[in-house]
Amino acid sequence: MAQYDVIVIGSGPGGYVCAIRCAQLGLKTACVEGRETLGGTCLNVGCIPSKAMLHATEMLHEAEANFAEMGLKGKSPSVDWKQMLSYKQKTIDQNTGGIEFLFKKNKIDWLKGWGSIPEKGKVKVGDETHSAKHIIVASGSEPASLPGVEIDETVVVSSTGALELSKVPKKMVVIGGGVIGLELGSVYKRLGAEVHVIEFLDKITPTMDEEVSRQFQKLLAKQGIEFTLGAAVQGVEATKQKAKVSYKMRKDDSEHEIDADVVLVSTGRKPVSKGFGLEDLGVEISERGQIKTDDHYRTNVEGIYAIGDAIDGPMLAHKAEDEGMACAEGIAGQHPHVNYGVIPSVIYTHPEVSMVGRTEQDLKEEGREYKVGKFSFMGNGRAKANFAADGFVKILADKTTDRVLGAHIIGPMAGDLIHEICVAMEFGAAAEDIARTCHAHPTYSEAVREAALACGDGPIHS
Ligand code: FAD
Repeated sequence: MAQYDVIVIGSGPGGYVCAIRCAQLGLKTACVEGRETLGGTCLNVGCIPSKAMLHATEMLHEAEANFAEMGLKGKSPSVDWKQMLSYKQKTIDQNTGGIEFLFKKNKIDWLKGWGSIPEKGKVKVGDETHSAKHIIVASGSEPASLPGVEIDETVVVSSTGALELSKVPKKMVVIGGGVIGLELGSVYKRLGAEVHVIEFLDKITPTMDEEVSRQFQKLLAKQGIEFTLGAAVQGVEATKQKAKVSYKMRKDDSEHEIDADVVLVSTGRKPVSKGFGLEDLGVEISERGQIKTDDHYRTNVEGIYAIGDAIDGPMLAHKAEDEGMACAEGIAGQHPHVNYGVIPSVIYTHPEVSMVGRTEQDLKEEGREYKVGKFSFMGNGRAKANFAADGFVKILADKTTDRVLGAHIIGPMAGDLIHEICVAMEFGAAAEDIARTCHAHPTYSEAVREAALACGDGPIHS
């Protein structure tokens, strides 16, 4: 029986980052993973493979839409689906292999197999039981479905099946207009599928700033993605090759059906928190299945901690990573802090969408006076040259103090641009601080500066 300071259960971005930080801080660490490879949902069936597919299909779109205009003549590329899947798999392998390398480098033991906690301070993997002073549960999440919808991962698929389809479907129905559905819907739209999104609410991406969400839907519709909003899916009937989705419009209860070759169910994810001993030890789990923790990621049972998708908060890889680091540092006696007010969200469609901090809706609800600085990518030279001028940067700042409260970007590299605002917010900066910072020309980031200028005396290029 091996003796550890820390055993982490799960090697997703929460778990592996936590394990590495523990090892860096001098704690003897092991990480249990039941999958064949390290990296969790994110590296195996989430962030990384989906971004590879988004990248490949965006290149295809770029070639089809803009190459001729730039004087790049010749045959447009055609899709070799098998090769695209193999590129995606290579990307996964490089990343998961990278974590294995980091584990070796940091002398972290990978305990292969599914782990359980038979008693406090013990983790059982296969026939072996290991001891640890601290057990960190980073068990992540899995796709959730709807009543009446059975996922077979062939015709009715979750995001996992959608990344492994045997061919590009002619028609795909996406249930749920959230981040994962829209990203994967975009992939298949660019590959030539007819894509129809059915969303229960009256808008897509409900947590996003409303103006951005409206603009985003318009741009996706312009790309040919169809939307039915305010529709409650009643069930999906599937055969081996086809499926039929039935739904009811919420405004008038009218009933409808739509056929598809593939139905992607992207109605959210649920935490993995049961079946490996937590309930028997009396660890508190919420009705939604989230493991309850305090600010230091401690559960109510001494020596057991939880982080990442398995606990409360946005289900994002970088949120899990930050919690992983903070949990490790807390165990090592440091005083870490995760600032949940500055966690960016990104949608990696074309154009990209990103946000951090408050939305206008939040500020109205809080009754806080604010100003809006907005700048369109139409006024950005680089964006125009790159056929990427759709979208805008919107900064929300306190009306009196000018302190940046949030930012919402739809446009090129929005997922990278948002971090300038994250840093500004961490330093408690005013919009004027961003506006007075020299930004290189010509870059997309000039649009961020112009939006900051728009919070004051006004932007230059609009
Ligand atoms: P996970 O990554 O889910 O890892 C948990 C691991 O624990 C799993 O490997 C599991 O096998 C293992 N495990 C569970 N129980 C046990 C046990 N008892 N014993 C051993 N091992 C166990 N987030 C972003 O921030 N950006 C994105 O672009 C993004 N894209 C996504 C795209 C898709 C299609 C999906 C599905 C998700 C995406 N996410 C994205 C979300 C992101 O993947 C998760 O937020 C993140 O992986 C959560 O990390 P985690 O460490 O909490 O758990």
